[in-house]
Amino acid sequence: MRTWTPPVIPKLPGNAPALRLFNTATGRLEHPPIHEGRATLYVCGITPYDATHLGHAFTYLAFDLMLRAWRDAGVETVYAQNITDVDDPLLERANDTGVDWRELADGQIALFRSDMFRLGMIPPEHYIAVTEAIEPIAQAVQELRERGLAYAVPTADAAGDDIYFDTVRAEADTQWRLGDVAPYERSVMELLSAERGGDPERPGKHDPLDPLLWRAAREGEPSWGTVLGLGRPGWHIECAAIAVQALGNAFTVQGGGHDLIFPHHEYTAAHATALSGTPLAHIYAHAGLVGYQGHKMSKSRGNLVFVHKVLDAGADPSAVRLGLLAHHYREEWEWEDADLEVASRRLAAWREGLSRPAAVAADLGDSAELAGSAQPMVAAAIVERLRAAMANDLDTPVMLATLDEAWDRGVDDPELLADAAQSLLGVALRPVEAD
Ligand code: ZN
Repeated sequence: MRTWTPPVIPKLPGNAPALRLFNTATGRLEHPPIHEGRATLYVCGITPYDATHLGHAFTYLAFDLMLRAWRDAGVETVYAQNITDVDDPLLERANDTGVDWRELADGQIALFRSDMFRLGMIPPEHYIAVTEAIEPIAQAVQELRERGLAYAVPTADAAGDDIYFDTVRAEADTQWRLGDVAPYERSVMELLSAERGGDPERPGKHDPLDPLLWRAAREGEPSWGTVLGLGRPGWHIECAAIAVQALGNAFTVQGGGHDLIFPHHEYTAAHATALSGTPLAHIYAHAGLVGYQGHKMSKSRGNLVFVHKVLDAGADPSAVRLGLLAHHYREEWEWEDADLEVASRRLAAWREGLSRPAAVAADLGDSAELAGSAQPMVAAAIVERLRAAMANDLDTPVMLATLDEAWDRGVDDPELLADAAQSLLGVALRPVEAD
């Protein structure tokens, strides 16, 4: 699938420390292993039935920062993202609105691409829609069947059977164990499974948690002819197959929003581990969910703040980024309407700082020690502080506070600091040149 034009990322002088990230699977901060100078990242993409809201933007921004931190540290990055362009919510929306599901998906993918470009997000190298990967996904399901890790559940409304993953057999016969990714009690898993697309009540399943691998063709639903017969893939096997196809086994980071921990990332890991014999990823990283007007932003509640609407209303993309970056990526927080105003003021203050002449060398303080002093600061030392905060699990609130202080006091090299804001945070302080 076509992506979008990448942002300009200035190269900064000096070296960045190795990135440390919080791993949901272990509950610890860890240094993801970098093999042959390369980090590989898979982030679960959108189901294209509605526009990108600020909660999505917050998630994709977290992984944009991760890529920026690695690149600044001289690590080569390979980034893959999927598009769940066949799924129940998309088909339901298409039915409800009388729009063809492909048209709905194409339109929303185009809008997502435009939103990501306008927000200066690094595009994936591998951008793969489920409809582009049906055959390898069906092959993966077939392989799980042949190994006795999947079973058929008869259907009343389809010609063929649905196929489910066998949790109990997988725990007995593979390296994966339920809870390898998700740090939840089984009772919590059962609740989450029911809430997030699972079907714990379906008769004929061996275990209520067993997830769907393949759905036999139903009247009025899209389907593809494969080794499994006519049908379409389940959600977790789709990501497992696409991720492994794009990045190989045991890639560096599997990422997504916090609501993907269970069942999605647990079972994506289960499928991939069962297929390859190695764990899916080294680190499972999750961004906090963003609320609005007292509740988590959700389609069902309708409390969404859409990225394209905010930008079309005249918001500076750098201000939108700053509004989101004011929160650590793992934080659960609530967007307030005033947040954009606060971020715009901060952006204006930084830009004003850049427009001031460089501080004279004789007036410079030792910026490492002079917090609270009014003396100008050494830009190169500020860049090191920014890098240290970024390497510490992408601590953007500290980075923003550091830059607030530096622009306020003045620096010896404003251009270097502007480069750092653009390179590390994707915040543009220089006037954009007209075409
Ligand atoms: Zn996924």
